[in-house]
Amino acid sequence: MLERLGIEHLFALSGTEALLGFLTPLALFVVFFLAQVILPGRRVPGYVTDPATGKPRAYKLSGILVFALALVVWALELTGMPRDWFYRSAPYAVAGGTVVAFVLTIIAVFSQPRGEVKNPIAAFWLGRAQELSFFNNRFDVKMYLYVAGGTMLALNALSAAAYHYERFGADSNPGVFLFAAFMTFYIADYFFFERVQLYTYDLIHEKLGFKLIWGALVIWGWLYVLPIWGMAALPRPEISSPWTYILLGGTAALLWFGWSISRGANMQKYTFKRWPDRKFLGLIEPEYIAAGDRKILCNGFWGAARHFNYMGEVIIALGVALLFGHFANPWAWVYFVYMTTYEITHQRDDEKECIKKYGAEKWAEYQAKVKYRIFPGIY
Ligand code: NDP
Repeated sequence: MLERLGIEHLFALSGTEALLGFLTPLALFVVFFLAQVILPGRRVPGYVTDPATGKPRAYKLSGILVFALALVVWALELTGMPRDWFYRSAPYAVAGGTVVAFVLTIIAVFSQPRGEVKNPIAAFWLGRAQELSFFNNRFDVKMYLYVAGGTMLALNALSAAAYHYERFGADSNPGVFLFAAFMTFYIADYFFFERVQLYTYDLIHEKLGFKLIWGALVIWGWLYVLPIWGMAALPRPEISSPWTYILLGGTAALLWFGWSISRGANMQKYTFKRWPDRKFLGLIEPEYIAAGDRKILCNGFWGAARHFNYMGEVIIALGVALLFGHFANPWAWVYFVYMTTYEITHQRDDEKECIKKYGAEKWAEYQAKVKYRIFPGIY
């Protein structure tokens, strides 16, 4: 079965190594916790209001520093851990990380008052507390989840590239290196603009349940790079040299295009939320629909589709599916299928929340002005 799936090499650890793989996430999550508490970071007011004070919650932004340090420790093998370890131990780490996420969720959910969600299984999945923070806001659980998950996403991609190079040397697939380079860039960019993340769905709406805790730590940290589980064990595709360059150039352009849409839309919304009258990039005058004291942005990226940022992510996922050059291999497409399904359901969930916040009438006005949900002209 594993052979047919092409991932038997990921189950080749000895008993002791398998146990170490299982425990790796626990050790990492402790180190990330210490890093998050100890390392300095910029203190900023966020977007979400603290119900106790009525003022914006305070956050410490240290993601870029934690990420840079983690890259150095991994690249120089400062802990003695081989660079390909995260990749070779990935399935065991997913199992171990899931157990840790399960325990953390039990603590995060059942230490809190019952609130609206009475059913304990639903509460476990969705969570009860909107935020949990400790040590005078030096440690915010949501920010921690994203720093740990995002850093591991990049390290898992890089680790797979290290494994691939050691196994195939001169016969390596350049697509694997493009994938690792892009994922590292994607996460560096995420942390560079960490403050913008304070204005996104998970910070605004999600509660601390298994969906968010496991989703950020394990799905984001280990499983977003799932295509590489199958792809790192394959040599370069049999494509002639000029076509390899065309494929790499074309998919790099696709990744860049997807990233530009996603980053552009997120930045436009962030600019609008912080400075409602400011032109985006000094060029695009914001147009909006007023809904009481709230404003629905409806031009630029937010005029192309109601969640155009999600289209950027789907284009990135398409680039990922194509860049390996193994077009008929299902592993290459896992991320694309996941991301497309995720963004379609996520857009619907967010729209329900927005109808509550902005009112059905004003949202219908927005829907009439901006007809498409994610893909202009299609959906
Ligand atoms: P958004 O950043 O789009 O945040 C949604 C919130 O933005 C809404 O609840 C609403 O909150 C506000 N908003 C939505 N439309 C408008 C509008 N027209 N005018 C003004 N405010 C509006 O969603 P995400 O957090 O999901 O996505 C952020 C980025 O992260 C995207 O690029 C996404 O693709 C990416 N991503 C996110 C994932 C996730 O798990 N969330 C997973 C994978 C990628 P309010 O009105 O309260 O400000």
